Parts: sequence; structure tokens; C-alpha cells
Amino acid sequence: MSALFPALAAPSARPALRFGTDTLTYEELARAAGSLAARIGGAGRVAVRATPTAHTAVAVVAALMAGVPAVPLNPRTGERELAHILGDSEPAVVLAGPGDELPAGLAGLPRIDVALTGPAGPLPVEPADPESPALIVYTSGTTGPPKGVVLSRRAIGASLDALADAWSWTADDVLVHALPLFHVHGLILGILGPLRRGGEVRHLGAFSAEGVARELGAGGGTMLFGVPTMYHRLADALADEPALVAAMAGARLLVSGSAALPVHDHERITAATGRTVVERYGMTETLMNTSVRPGAGPRPGTVGTPLAGVDLRLVDEDGSVLKELDGETVGEVQVRGPKLFSGYLNRPEATAEAFDGDWFRTGDMAVREADGAVRLVGRKATDLIKSGGYKIGAGEIENALLDHPGIREAAVTGEPDPDLGERIVAWVVPSDASAPPAAAELADHVARLLAPHKRPRTVRYLDALPRNDMGKVLKKALPAGS
Ligand code: ATP
Ligand code: MG
Repeated sequence: MSALFPALAAPSARPALRFGTDTLTYEELARAAGSLAARIGGAGRVAVRATPTAHTAVAVVAALMAGVPAVPLNPRTGERELAHILGDSEPAVVLAGPGDELPAGLAGLPRIDVALTGPAGPLPVEPADPESPALIVYTSGTTGPPKGVVLSRRAIGASLDALADAWSWTADDVLVHALPLFHVHGLILGILGPLRRGGEVRHLGAFSAEGVARELGAGGGTMLFGVPTMYHRLADALADEPALVAAMAGARLLVSGSAALPVHDHERITAATGRTVVERYGMTETLMNTSVRPGAGPRPGTVGTPLAGVDLRLVDEDGSVLKELDGETVGEVQVRGPKLFSGYLNRPEATAEAFDGDWFRTGDMAVREADGAVRLVGRKATDLIKSGGYKIGAGEIENALLDHPGIREAAVTGEPDPDLGERIVAWVVPSDASAPPAAAELADHVARLLAPHKRPRTVRYLDALPRNDMGKVLKKALPAGS
């Protein structure tokens, strides 16, 4: 396979990375990553303390150039999860920014400080084997302990190229970035994507709606990759401060992923800016599966159609492949193709269980619309409620609740019920804590928008939903049966 980063094989003075005052051209990145690659070549695996800094980007690119698998670590991971990941991945070295204080779990490992500069010299040649493991990325741990996903150069290259195709992504694009760098979204799409294209990344360190809006317009940013909580906050800010709408006008593409973008937030962004957010769907194990196509018009609630090279099917509980494009019949999403991972690290049984032949079982449930677009209804494990003989996806009820002006956040679960099998439970965060809408009003609202059997039977009020670093709702962390 050709190099993952052609722009580093023939480096230029074009800008590659900007993290605050740390900026690197392709030439500077090639030197910094090249000299680090020469130091770590031959190491078994390297852990990268993935702070939102240029050091993380240099460390990961160096590992890819050296052919040493990199394990990006969430810098805020707690002791127990860190011990699990280190015990599982057994890195030989940790790469960290100079002056970074390492937590106890990492302090015992040999450490190399990442420099942003390096001497001019011959660049290491990227390994040729497309199957060689490039990254070991841990899943978000939404449904259980994070699993180490081994990703090859083949999978990464194929996925980024399919996105470039779908989004007309070029070397002229400037990505505005405010995501963490230890998952697929922030690291592979957000850093490796622009570098593969020869374009530029501008990382804001942390998300602020105002920072993002200003960087997108006058700042010259052309694309934004965000998670739904960011678009929610952006929608709030655009409503309060119309000047930000004008500031954002230069952006050509707003992309959302990692979790479902509530229809309500989608519509608020469109109402404020006249643009639609392009939603895409992927997983650590599969990289990107589907995307709405820019220019296809607003498709709130769908994640679009399969990307190039992705075979996608829906399979019902009996294992039959669904042919219906009726927007109604629910099945599990299964995918196959060159973007799939190579296996879970140290978990051959989990890997085997995750496949049906060469089809990967995503655990996500969906329906397909008449034009083939996929509408996710939730995860098999946590979001599919079997109530009164119906199979009901939590997602559409969550969207309906968020459509109520008195509701700011919503999560829907099923709880055992002697009569219905499972009962629909709505967990809501009111917009105004002092005047929460009554449970009966919310239940009626859902029944009116959707159907009577989708009416929540119980409504529980919270100050906030439990979420992880990517803003994903952790349904398992909802107070049990309270
Ligand atoms: P774990 O596998 O450890 O429980 P996780 O599945 O959240 O965690 P990731 O691989 O980071 O870990 O996330 C992939 C999942 O995120 C998908 O299976 C899907 O459920 C969800 N997801 C991603 N994009 C979207 C989207 N656009 N809409 C709805 N859900 C999405
Ligand atoms: Mg998962």
C-alpha cells in the first residue's frame, strides 16, 4: 500500500498542525516525527499520553512511520481503567509531552519526551505491510470495560479515503478540532485525516461554541468535526449571539458523530445558519460505516448511506437478512469490507463472537429508509425496549422528549414490568429545574408525536445525565431502579 502520509514523504512549507501557539508545517512535522520514529523503531508498542496537544499528533505520526503500534491513552483515565489498559496492551515506552506529569500507573514505564522540532535528515520509510497493526484504540467503554481494537494501516487508509470521497475532502480544507485525541473520532478522523489529505488541523485545546464559530469563519476553518453535545452548545450560542452565525459563514462542512445528534439540535442549527449538519456513523472496530452526503438536504435522524467499500446489511433476530426499505423493520447492523479491525487485543473469543462469517455484528439496531439511508434506533444491549409485544428503539423517544421545550437532556431505558415485559422509563433533565414539565404532560407529548405504545410509563428527573468524555450517555450509570 502506498504511504499513509504522502505529504510527509515530500514535505513542504504548508501548514500541518496548529495547537494554540504550537504550529508545525509539513516539513517541521516530518522532522519532528521522523527523528522520534528513529528513536522508537523496534520498540514493541508505545503508549501515547493523548493530551490535546501537538505532541500527541507528533507521537502518533512517529509511531506510524516507525511501524510501532501506538496505544493512545486518555490522560484523565482513572487508576483502575489505566491499569486494565496497560496490563492488556503492555507498552514498552510511554511518549508524553515535556513536563507532563504522569500518573502513578504510567510512571514506572520508560518515558520519552516528545519534541516538536527535529534535525533535518533522511525520513524513515513507512512500513509497507498494509496488515501491520498501526494503532490499538480502546473503545469508549459505553457498554462494558473498554476493548483494545487493533487497527491496521489498511483499515485506516481505506476509511479515510472513503470519507475524503464522500465529503470532497482536499488539501485545501482546514479542520477545526476540539475533540479529545484518544478515540477514532478525534485521532484518526481529526488528526490523521487532514494529514493524509495534506491539509491543516487547528485544535482549540477545549471546546467553546464561540471559539469554534470564530475559527470556522474569519479564522479560515472550512470543516468542523464534533460530537452532539458540541452541536447542542453551538445551537444555544447561535440563538443567544447572532454575530456568531455570521462568523461561521465560511465553513463548508459541519459533521457530527460518535452518538446520535438529536433531531431538535439538528433543526436548531439549520434554523440559525441555513446549513445542515452531516451525520456519520462509525465504531472503533469498523471505522466509518455510513454518512449523509453533503448537499443531499437535511436528513435529521438518519446517518446516511454506506461509504465506498462498506457492505452493510440488517439482520433480524432469527439471522435472516432484511430486505425492507420501509423505515420500520428493525434489524442489527452488520458490515464487512476493508475498513474492519484486525481483532480485539488478547480476546480471540470476543473477536470470534463479534463476527458472523466475515460480517461484523455492530450491536447497533437500525431501520432503512426508502432511499437506503440508515436510521439507527439504538444499541441492542441498552436501547432496544421490548414492551407490550413491540420492539421500540430508545432513540426516537429521546428525540421526541427533546422536542418538548421544557426538556434539555433525555435518555430512555426499559425496566422489567410484569404486564408489559418491559416498561419505558424516561430520564429527563428539565430546561428549568424550578419548573419541570409534569410526567403526564411528557408522556402525552411522546404518545402524540409517535404512538400510544411508545408512551413512557415512568419519568425520572435528574440534574444531568451521566456522560463520558465524548458526551455519550452512560445508560449503565443511571441510578438503578430509583
Ligand atoms: P463500548 O464498545 O466500549 O461499549 P462504544 O461502542 O461507545 O463503547 P465506540 O467504538 O467509541 O465505543 O463507539 C461506537 C458506537 O457509537 C457505535 O456502535 C454507535 O452505537 C455509536 N455511534 C457512533 N456514531 C453514531 C451516530 N452518528 N449516531 C448514533 N450512534 C452513533
Ligand atoms: Mg462498542
